[in-house]
Amino acid sequence: PTETPDTQHSPDATPAAGLPPGELIRLEQVTKRFGDNTVLDHLDFSVDAGKHVTLIGPSGSGKTTILRLLMTLTKPDEGRITVDGQQLFPATEKEVREVRKKIGMVFQQFNLFPNMTVLRNIMEAPVTVLGLPKDEAEARARELLEMVGLADKCDARPTRLSGGQQQRVAIARALAMRPQVLLLDEVTSALDPELVAGVLDLLRDIARSTDITMLCVTHEMSFARDISDQVLMFDEGRVIEAGSPEKIFNDPENDRTREFLSAVL
Ligand code: ADP
Repeated sequence: PTETPDTQHSPDATPAAGLPPGELIRLEQVTKRFGDNTVLDHLDFSVDAGKHVTLIGPSGSGKTTILRLLMTLTKPDEGRITVDGQQLFPATEKEVREVRKKIGMVFQQFNLFPNMTVLRNIMEAPVTVLGLPKDEAEARARELLEMVGLADKCDARPTRLSGGQQQRVAIARALAMRPQVLLLDEVTSALDPELVAGVLDLLRDIARSTDITMLCVTHEMSFARDISDQVLMFDEGRVIEAGSPEKIFNDPENDRTREFLSAVL
C-alpha cells in the first residue's frame, strides 16, 4: 500500500520504512561542524520509545549539540535524523512543527518567560501551539504544579523563585505539552548545590511514573546510574562506549571512559 504523508503524524503511525518498531529517535552518520571544529563525527545511535538514555562525557564532546539538533535549533552538515518516523532536515515547516510538539526540552538556564506568572508560563504553549482551551490548559498546569510541589506559586513571577523552583516550573512547562520525548540539558548545572537533589528526585519520579522517553545530558553520575536504561559515553563527537549503567559505571571497557569516570566520580 502507498503511504500517505499524514499517517506518520497519528499516534499509532507505522514507523518509516526500514525503522524497527518501537524506535523513536535515530541518528545516522550525523556530522556537525562549526567552522573547522567537527563537533559530531558520523554519529549513529537510536533510542527506543519509553527508554531513558543518558549522554555523558567531557565538556565539548558534542552532547548538547545532539539535543539542539533534535529540537531543530541547529542543522547537521551531513547525515539523517528521524523522530517518530519523520525525517528532519529536510522537512517542511509543518513537519518540523509536528516533530517539535513531540519533544519537550529543559535547559540549564530554565529559560522561563520572565513577564508571565508561573501558571501562564505553563499554559502558554498548550494554548498557542496545541490550541487547548484556556480552562483545560489551566487545569493541566495546576495539576503539574501540584506534581512538582509548587501549587502555591502559580501567581508568582519566575524571578521571585529559587533556581530549583524555576527549574521545577520549566519541567512542568515541558510536560504540559505531553511530549513523547523529554530532552534534559544539564538541568542542575546552574543550581546552588543544596537545590540539586530536589530537582533530580523530581526527575527520578517522572522517569519511574511515566512512559516518557528521556534523553539526558548530565554530569550527575548517580542520577545517570539510577534512571538510565542506557548510557552513551561521548568523546570528540563520537560515542566511544555504550551500555547499561552497570556496565559503564562498574566495568567500562574504554580507557577514556575509565579516565573520565575516575575524574568525575
Ligand atoms: P558538550 O555538551 O558535550 O559540552 P557541546 O555540544 O556544547 O558539547 O559543544 C561541542 C563543541 O561545539 C564545543 O567545542 C563548542 O565550543 C562547539 N559549539 C557549540 N555550539 C557552537 C556554536 N553555536 N558556534 C560555534 N561553536 C559551537
